[in-house]
Amino acid sequence: MIDAIQDKLKGFELGAADYITKPFDIDEVHARVRTHLELARLRRFLEDRVKQRTTMLQVSEEKYRILAHRDQLTGLPNRVLLAELLTHAIQHAERNDAQFALLSLDLDNFKTINESLGHSQGDQLLVEVGKRLQKLCPESDAIARIGGDEFDIILERQENMPRVDLLAQHMIDALAEEPFMLDGRCIYVGASIGIALYPADGTSVETLQSHADAALHQAKAHGKGVLRFFSPEMSNRAKTRLTLESDLRQAFDHGEFRLYYQPQVELANGQIVGLEALVRWAHPERGIVPPSEFIPLAEESGLVVRLGDWVLHEACRQIKLWSAAGLAPRQTAVNVSAVQLSRGNLVESVKHALEQSGIVPDQLELEITESFVMADHEQAFKSLAEIKALGVRLSIDDFGTGYSSLAYLQQLKVHKLKVDMSFVSDMTTNSGNASIVKAVIAMGHSLGLEVIAEGVEEEAQASHLRALNCDVIQGYLISRPLPSDEMTRFLKDFRPA
Ligand code: C2E
Ligand code: MG
Ligand code: MG
Repeated sequence: MIDAIQDKLKGFELGAADYITKPFDIDEVHARVRTHLELARLRRFLEDRVKQRTTMLQVSEEKYRILAHRDQLTGLPNRVLLAELLTHAIQHAERNDAQFALLSLDLDNFKTINESLGHSQGDQLLVEVGKRLQKLCPESDAIARIGGDEFDIILERQENMPRVDLLAQHMIDALAEEPFMLDGRCIYVGASIGIALYPADGTSVETLQSHADAALHQAKAHGKGVLRFFSPEMSNRAKTRLTLESDLRQAFDHGEFRLYYQPQVELANGQIVGLEALVRWAHPERGIVPPSEFIPLAEESGLVVRLGDWVLHEACRQIKLWSAAGLAPRQTAVNVSAVQLSRGNLVESVKHALEQSGIVPDQLELEITESFVMADHEQAFKSLAEIKALGVRLSIDDFGTGYSSLAYLQQLKVHKLKVDMSFVSDMTTNSGNASIVKAVIAMGHSLGLEVIAEGVEEEAQASHLRALNCDVIQGYLISRPLPSDEMTRFLKDFRPA
């Protein structure tokens, strides 16, 4: 008996699936064989399913890998894959003591094209740009779309390769010179390029990318279709910009902005008829920072909306104080940025500042520039009309430096023109500029506008302007911009010449 059991176990060990004891019944044998065949089929079926699932998983993993590494629109490597490619390029260059360049390319005016053509055409254009760049690049996988309209290109130095700047220039030309055909329309697209070199400008992925980016920023600042190599000063400038921007955010909480005021004098009687409020930033380390150093940054980051709101409220509060003391001139002007109109709610801000301070609306004047109206003229006209309806006065600042259409000027019905100081500064020696000043004054008067000249520093300029019938002057000749307490004293002590 024990032997029989041992035999069975041995049989299973050797691979038997089953056994039948003798004497056997043929029907039982058939039944058992059927069962075993069925079991074998089931096993095969299960094995197949497992195999199928594994391949499915592998396929989707591959798909995922591609998606994570490729830009969906153009099929080019994306930011993630570019970082890998750059790592390889660095390792390869390190081993072979070689050099390579990272190019950061950005299309000029893509935003405008995208907005005017529609996003699907904009997408199509990006695809076509990608294709054209691929044709130009010796290494097909070395060009990546980083996002938006920015493409990065790794150019590894090869035998007989032209210089990097020549290749980059060739790319700019190849994009700009031949139009792209979209839906039967010819579209011309320019591009700017920033270049960082390995190892001179950096030996890590992050440094190379941020330096190529800084160079691109500089290229764009110089105009369209420009290429720039990275230089260390660019990185310093970029760093200063970054710190300045974060400081700027904090400046609100720390109450670091100040309003200075500069007087405006009527030439006919020598009286102070107006003031211009000019913002300053009392930086804890850098001292008083002029607006030219932070307004452009504030405009770019949108912070100018909050800053402009503060300026309006602060100026109105001060006007009220001077009114109560019998010192307020007819008007006080506040500069407003076009960004306050496009990204903020200028009308509401003005209304609120008037209400809160309780000043008479025509004590406030807004200075706008010509670009204010050009960007989105329908919206600008609507808002400016609402502001004028409140009783607030409008003037055009830096007149003559933009591209104002005279028709706009008439439609807007502003009250004042401010002749830009670049014409005034040398009007006594430059007859061309003297003619411009003369023409602007005559034109302003014929449209029924008051004309004020800014940047008047010398008596000779004042007399020349008087002879040309200019109404009001503003400049260092009368006073530099002063903080409010000093301006209070100035207003009290002022006696017309
Ligand atoms: P702007 O409105 O044309 O202001 C006139 C600028 O000329 C002021 O420079 C003023 O200090 C300067 N200035 C006045 N008289 C003379 C002179 O006789 N000679 C010379 N060389 N310069 C004179 P500032 O204060 O540095 O302001 C520069 C610009 O910053 C302003 O030009 C204005 O566009 C902008 N800005 C100033 N405050 C604000 C503000 O609160 N908001 C906005 N959005 N922009 C502002
Ligand atoms: Mg101004
Ligand atoms: Mg001005």
